[in-house]
Amino acid sequence: MRTWLELPPATDFPLENLPYGIFAPPGKRARVGVAIGQWVLDLKRLAKQGLFNDLKIDGRVFAKPSLNAFIGLGRAAHQAVRARLQEFLTSPPAKIAKRGRDLLLEQSQVQLFLPVKIGDYTDFYSSLEHATNVGKMFRGEANALLPNWKHLPVAYHGRSSSIVVSGTPLARPWGQTSPGEQAAPSFGPSRAVDFELEVAFIIGKENPLGQPVPAAEAEDYVFGFVLFNDWSARDLQKWEYQPLGPFLGKNFGSTISPWVVTLDALAPFRTTGPGQDPPVLPYLQTAGPRTFDLELSVAIQAAQGPATVVCRSNFKHLYWNISQQIAHHTVNGCNLKIGDLLASGTISGPEPTSFGSLQELTWGGKNPLTLANGSQRRFLEDGDTVILNGWAEKDGLRIGFGPASGQLLPARPQPA
Ligand code: MN
Repeated sequence: MRTWLELPPATDFPLENLPYGIFAPPGKRARVGVAIGQWVLDLKRLAKQGLFNDLKIDGRVFAKPSLNAFIGLGRAAHQAVRARLQEFLTSPPAKIAKRGRDLLLEQSQVQLFLPVKIGDYTDFYSSLEHATNVGKMFRGEANALLPNWKHLPVAYHGRSSSIVVSGTPLARPWGQTSPGEQAAPSFGPSRAVDFELEVAFIIGKENPLGQPVPAAEAEDYVFGFVLFNDWSARDLQKWEYQPLGPFLGKNFGSTISPWVVTLDALAPFRTTGPGQDPPVLPYLQTAGPRTFDLELSVAIQAAQGPATVVCRSNFKHLYWNISQQIAHHTVNGCNLKIGDLLASGTISGPEPTSFGSLQELTWGGKNPLTLANGSQRRFLEDGDTVILNGWAEKDGLRIGFGPASGQLLPARPQPA
């Protein structure tokens, strides 16, 4: 399968990827597009040309400012559109071929938006290495892992309103921090802003309230994946989190990559996750390759100087797979909605260079990192840009996500 487009050899977006996003051409309204090489293909206009007419798909879903309506058409429609797009990009019908180039815009010339209207957001805690690292720092070696951790995929309900698309800056948050030896807690800008390297998936099918999703069917409920940076203010988090969990240390912002990579695109990269011991309860048991071999990296770029890669990890390290996460999330009857976002939790691997947060990479600030410009980091500084990348690569095929990046701005003045 070869496209008539000339694609750069190492592109994240070959013909086999075709991730969906929301973009606006200069001066026009937001609509659905697909990334191919350095371009975005305008599906709103392609639908108007009649490319999907015989597929019984309402072309108006491509004129919406979110993917939700398209996602709601279901897996069969997604696969039919994917096949039709691959056909168009290899051997287009003659009358459309002449206009093919007009339907492509340079990604650098368009504005990208959040790809979905996100409903509920859940953040798991599914990396054994991450949970162990954090446990060691907070509770010591002996009690690093809490007793429930290997029996259920731990998670909390987060907040979706502050999830932003790559390229959106965030200000350093204000908040309370522990009194320590003082009489009262202090209040000020966080001094421990961190990133969390995560991958999130978007729900593509709904289960009715009261009807759990069996683990074996769980992947039918997944539309696709994005990269996810769960920015975290560790000092705020440490003071506030007991007994109910994360709150203001997390909800000041999270960054996602703009293109949703489908399960179909990732199919060649299926793999099995780590063995689970002790065995999990029957409702959490899965068989076969239920996870994906996705390389992940994090770079920090200071206001001055080049980007420095500070972490390399892999999605396949996660102890709990997405089928188990969905089965657990719904086992009590909780209903998932189209556009919900379920994030993995920080993805740390076994090597110290694969730890997915600064908290772990610097071991609570004890071992600072040195960036390419010579400056040191315990936590993020004003002006730092954090850049997540993710890709799968095998036998000359590369399926990438495009970056999820965001800059940390100085704290805003507080209203008096
Ligand atoms: Mn997280």
